[in-house]
Amino acid sequence: MQTNFTAEQLADPHVAESEKILRRCVHCGFCTATCPTYVTLGNELDSPRGRIYLIKDMLENGRAADAEVVTHIDRCLSCLACVTTCPSGVDYMHLVDHARVHIEKTYRRPPMDRLIRQVLAMVLPYPGRFRLALGLARLGRPLAPLLRRVAPLKPLAAMLDLAPQARPKPSTSTRSGSRGPDGERRGRVAILSGCAQPVLDPGINEATIRLLTRLGVEVVVPQGEGCCGALVHHMGKEDHALASARSNIDVWIREIEAGGLDAIIITASGCGTTIKDYGHMLRLDPAYAGKAARVSALAKDVTEYLSALELPEVESRGLAVAYHSACSMQHGQKITMAPKVLLRKAGFTVREPAEGHLCCGSAGTYNIMQPEISAQLKTRKVKNIEATRADVIATGNIGCMTQIGTATAIPIVHTVELLDWAYGGPKPAKLA
Ligand code: SF4
Ligand code: SF4
Repeated sequence: MQTNFTAEQLADPHVAESEKILRRCVHCGFCTATCPTYVTLGNELDSPRGRIYLIKDMLENGRAADAEVVTHIDRCLSCLACVTTCPSGVDYMHLVDHARVHIEKTYRRPPMDRLIRQVLAMVLPYPGRFRLALGLARLGRPLAPLLRRVAPLKPLAAMLDLAPQARPKPSTSTRSGSRGPDGERRGRVAILSGCAQPVLDPGINEATIRLLTRLGVEVVVPQGEGCCGALVHHMGKEDHALASARSNIDVWIREIEAGGLDAIIITASGCGTTIKDYGHMLRLDPAYAGKAARVSALAKDVTEYLSALELPEVESRGLAVAYHSACSMQHGQKITMAPKVLLRKAGFTVREPAEGHLCCGSAGTYNIMQPEISAQLKTRKVKNIEATRADVIATGNIGCMTQIGTATAIPIVHTVELLDWAYGGPKPAKLA
């Protein structure tokens, strides 16, 4: 694609990067076929190619974002299916990241939209506040049908719908400190406690810690870990996202220097995609660029790390598992085989739902901010999953678990919970 940026515009490294990305696009439109919003809405402006044109026009003309650009960029799930499909290697992820930051800086959203986004940014990344909010959501649930009738309040109704009926008890898995390996030590890793995940489903990291320590790996929860920044990063709140990244980098570098780390284990693929991108996000910060690249290189999804441990084959359990590959897992991190291979080795029959490349509509805060499109994608996803007639659904991202879990009676668990069970841990509570 030809671009017409001035030398002055290209002096901004963010614009220079976006210009390079734009130039790679050859307008072929292959990406439209796998884009969930184009497939759902059928509007070229809700396709990757359409959004690329909108972003090019906005940046090239040095314009502030307008309502049209914001509408179509907000509808993008950042699922990155287009990146997997693109034959030309267009780095849409960093282009849309830049567009979102530009929108945040130049566009004044309607008051209710601004307020809801602010509340989400102030609550979701902090487990204590999030836990409190879930308690309030349970009380407010009867108001959801009323809120749903007023367009600007629909996100509030979506929040109430998504809140679980019961809050699990706080878990010891988030307490800082080391969990020693059983027997001889074959590795030492840090685990990301995360923000929303330990509140919604602490069993995931409990299973991870049990499994890894049983396999001889020391697991450390470093003091001071916090949210990875993904949620605010996808809202274009760059300062907040970079502050979270710097804070976690300091924590992990301290741990590397104190005891050494073979990996930083992440059990939510949305967080994994962002932490693997810290090196890029902080590339212009001389104080953090090197440290961020080091942390990104150590970041591993739990299934990536387990694959390297060569687990033994286990006899079949006669249980069929529908494996749902989160977008951040398959498109963001390009991890496609490892979870399925591990599940098969662990004695499960793996079934792959049709249209596995399409997003379930969760996408961070998307199911709150874009409830209608999200609901359509959820219905489509659940129909495909249920068609597999599986006994259980496994996935590697808490967002997908919450989204899909609200629409099906098939139990949904994290892949690592099944692996922990297969290799000597307890049966996941949802299967009891
Ligand atoms: S990230 Fe997903 S929703 Fe956004 S343009 Fe690409 S395929 Fe479409
Ligand atoms: S597939 Fe790639 S090159 Fe083709 S239109 Fe989409 S982004 Fe551009």
